[in-house]
Amino acid sequence: MTKQLFAGRLRFVLSIIGLALAVTFFFATGLRAAAMRAPVVVIDAGHGGFDRGGILGQRVPEKDIALDVAVRLKLKLQAAGCRVIMTRDTDVFVPLPSRVMIANSNRNAIFICIHFNAARRLGANGIETYYYRRDSASLAANIHRNVIAGAPSENRGIRRWGFYVLRKTAIPGVLVECGFLTNPTEARLAQTTAYRDKLAEEITRGILGKPALVAREPASRHYPPALEVERQPFNSYIGTDFVKVPPERSSSHHAKKSTKHKKSSKASHIAAQKKQTETADGQSSSTKRDSTKSKPED
Ligand code: ZN
Repeated sequence: MTKQLFAGRLRFVLSIIGLALAVTFFFATGLRAAAMRAPVVVIDAGHGGFDRGGILGQRVPEKDIALDVAVRLKLKLQAAGCRVIMTRDTDVFVPLPSRVMIANSNRNAIFICIHFNAARRLGANGIETYYYRRDSASLAANIHRNVIAGAPSENRGIRRWGFYVLRKTAIPGVLVECGFLTNPTEARLAQTTAYRDKLAEEITRGILGKPALVAREPASRHYPPALEVERQPFNSYIGTDFVKVPPERSSSHHAKKSTKHKKSSKASHIAAQKKQTETADGQSSSTKRDSTKSKPED
């Protein structure tokens, strides 16, 4: 009888141990699989420290807004199981080559740069997403599609552009210009927690390949949808757009003006970061004129 009781207890203990082992194995496998699925993300908040970003006299500093979105993005990605590395998580200046070095030391990662735009023309507005490496095109499309969803901004499209941080990185990289801080409406929005959080949420969903949280169309459809456009060879177009951005047709007398202002927006970034370019490349960006190599840095 005692022997039977002992055997019964032994069976019971063994089955408990077996169950515990099975549960542990199940969770360990699940976690490992989740970790393998979740990408490693290097987040690069633009500018910082003495480099406020944007243009001279700009009221809302780009460096602060970009950092806030970047930190929110980090928390959301971590919550989704991603490993996240920040090029900066405080208000410090990090030189572009250092940002690239951080990205390149994480070979299995993706690189996400957060910026906001600026232009002399107050009316200039909208969201644009940049990539440079071929393997970044779909990531750019996923992120852009989500960020413009529900945004009361122009869809300025996805563009291929050799920003220093995109050109020098050896991993897929995307740079999001999350709106114009020189535009009163977008600046007001960017200063609200809710909007910055939405930006971070949509970028997170884009990275994870999930559809946008908000399905609403952007305020303007002047530009073609981002996902249907990869039609021209990457290297044939000096101007970089692979979403071919048409002139603002609805107001043709503005077309020239807006192009000019677009240039001035770019010029502001060139001016702001030319110094870094020179340091990084050992020569001025203005001396380089071949294809995307001559593009500004950001
Ligand atoms: Zn910037």
